[in-house]
Amino acid sequence: MSASRTSAEEMDGLETRLAAVRAGVRDAARAAGRDPGSIRMIVVTKFHPAQLVRRLVELGVHDFGESRHQEAQPKIQQLAELDLTWHFIGQLQRKKAKAVAAYSDVIHSVDRESLVTALESSARTIDAFIQVNLTADPDRGGVPLAELEPLATRVLAADRINLLGVMAVAPLGEEPRRAFARLRAASERVRRLSATSDAISAGMSQDYPQAIAEGATHLRIGSAITGNRPPGR
Ligand SMILES: *Cc1c(COP(=O)(O)O)cnc(C)c1O
Repeated sequence: MSASRTSAEEMDGLETRLAAVRAGVRDAARAAGRDPGSIRMIVVTKFHPAQLVRRLVELGVHDFGESRHQEAQPKIQQLAELDLTWHFIGQLQRKKAKAVAAYSDVIHSVDRESLVTALESSARTIDAFIQVNLTADPDRGGVPLAELEPLATRVLAADRINLLGVMAVAPLGEEPRRAFARLRAASERVRRLSATSDAISAGMSQDYPQAIAEGATHLRIGSAITGNRPPGR
């Protein structure tokens, strides 16, 4: 680093990490024979203050992800003057669904009918992904693969929800690409019900190249860009 570059961005490497991930996305897209422009990168800013979001906006980021309502709501309020797209990616409680829909543009974690019921009565139309559980553990978030069509049919019938596609987190202890191949198959099932619900939200800091190889259109990348959590969080 040259001595004249002393801004906070340079000092903590945010700009460098963002550039590295953007290059990694381009490389993985090319390796998969895909147009990098067809892949949207969401920067996950959970545990980080609004100030980090402002710095990322200066670096050209537009899509942000948050996973906990009690943290996301005040943070997004502080940034209300910026024209950003907010993605809610965490587990969602039915009682919080309407409040989350008020400040989120996209909800990635619709995984049961009671959430659909809560969201369809919200004041505005929201874009949504159905979260799929790729593990055998029913306590993990996401609808079981066997119940995908009934839930997708229910979401498609809801007035105020626009179904974008499917979302998942790769299970621990499995080669991520194998898990993402199952998500791609789930996406094909949903597309048979709604040809335009063709998006795939998959890929985090450690596995986004594998997700891109299996067709991910929306990446959710946190720590590879934001760095470690601030102390004490
Ligand atoms: C935190 C989180 C991410 C980002 O994870 P990193 O490993 O920090 O990139 C993506 N998706 C979900 C659902 C998350 O909770």
